[in-house]
Amino acid sequence: MTSDQRRGLPRVDLVVGHPSAADACKQLGQRAVTRLAREAIDAARQTVRDGASPPSVEDIATRVAARAARILGSRAQRVINATGVLLHTNLGRAPLGPRAIDALTNSAAGYTSIEIDLATGKRGRRGAFAEDALRELTGADAALVVNNNAAAVLLMLGALAVGRSVIVSRGELVEIGGGFRIPDVMARSGARLVEVGTTNKTRISDYARALEEHPDCVAILRVHQGNFRQVGFVERPQHEELAKLAHDKHVLLLEDLGGGALVDLQSLGLSGEPTVKESVSKGSDIVCFSTDKVLGGPQGGAIVGKSDLVERCRRDPLARALRLGRLPLVALEATLASYLEGDLDAIPALAALRAPTNVVRARAEHLRDDLERRGVSASVVELRSAVGGGAYAEEPLESWGVAIGAEGSTATSIAQRLRTGTPPVLPRVQEGRLLFDVRTLLAGEDELLANAIERAVKNS
Ligand SMILES: *Cc1c(COP(=O)(O)O)cnc(C)c1O
Repeated sequence: MTSDQRRGLPRVDLVVGHPSAADACKQLGQRAVTRLAREAIDAARQTVRDGASPPSVEDIATRVAARAARILGSRAQRVINATGVLLHTNLGRAPLGPRAIDALTNSAAGYTSIEIDLATGKRGRRGAFAEDALRELTGADAALVVNNNAAAVLLMLGALAVGRSVIVSRGELVEIGGGFRIPDVMARSGARLVEVGTTNKTRISDYARALEEHPDCVAILRVHQGNFRQVGFVERPQHEELAKLAHDKHVLLLEDLGGGALVDLQSLGLSGEPTVKESVSKGSDIVCFSTDKVLGGPQGGAIVGKSDLVERCRRDPLARALRLGRLPLVALEATLASYLEGDLDAIPALAALRAPTNVVRARAEHLRDDLERRGVSASVVELRSAVGGGAYAEEPLESWGVAIGAEGSTATSIAQRLRTGTPPVLPRVQEGRLLFDVRTLLAGEDELLANAIERAVKNS
């Protein structure tokens, strides 16, 4: 008799073979479930030593099944975003439209002419169509697409400023989130950071003095402040003024723009974010941006600007390590094709941004009616949605949604059930209330959401 048997602990093989663990074995494999069973028995051994009575085979198998369910739930899966944050970094940012999905499906299932020129049969340039489209849409001389904007910034600095000084305002030494901090990325790129100004005020004279003091300086870097705003006693030189100073002193003006708006969103009340085209025309020599923020495409980053500078980035050895994958590339090309055709509603993130408030409200009313019919008490509420993805730090979008008649700990436990359901639903929990913003719902998700809410509320 083993010491575990003397303690009354179940045998590993009996736990693994128990019907409660059968699903787990099927989905994760016998070997993984055996490891989970050992871990569960190890944990139980300790509690038995401490005087608890030994768990049954069934108890342990149930714990193993719960652990297996958690592991399976950790897979990246399609979720319903009712948070009201449109470009939610934790939810994969921009959803893609039908054309991008077609392109992905087609490319994924076969071979793709990614680096071959079909007209000549010779080797072609990866990303050629995307880069030509970006030139067209931004007015830049040249473009290069890479894995994300963090990669774009790293490559730009590494290729153009390694071993040299780059001036950045103290008001722009930002952290974007997920550990992307401008000073750290600069250090890693091999560029030397020269800080100027103060947190709230940096004047053109601060830049001018730094240029005098640092003759090895090759560039001024301008960084979009992303997901926060400075208000009140603040000052930052005009873009054109900074470009003039840089060019008078024969240094480059580089810009990390964050989100890459390709169309002007001012008519939607979204002001204060320049388009890439504006940045290029105001004199930035290079502009870097994400393709999955306000651009509305798949994960990616772009470097646009002067041809000779973009070519130096393209030839840099880092470029190969940071290149965009085949699947995001075909999805990006399809998204950019929609821009070229002027079909902005084919891009779900833009369609959601542009949806008129009365349409959003009618959708919320429809959802409320549907829930009431199912016996779930719900009310229509006015909300504010956020663009997210480091753009428009405030919540500038008027929106509507539905509030569920549950508060406090009930709301929290319903939210948890929604997150772990099928499909998972991400509501907004605000001041102990459960809210569902319909601006971030995609086409066809309304009924799925109503089903999920009904299930979660009725099981509470
Ligand atoms: C979002 C952002 C980044 C990082 O872009 P990713 O595409 O997420 O890598 C860098 N700089 C700024 C200013 C940003 O807003």
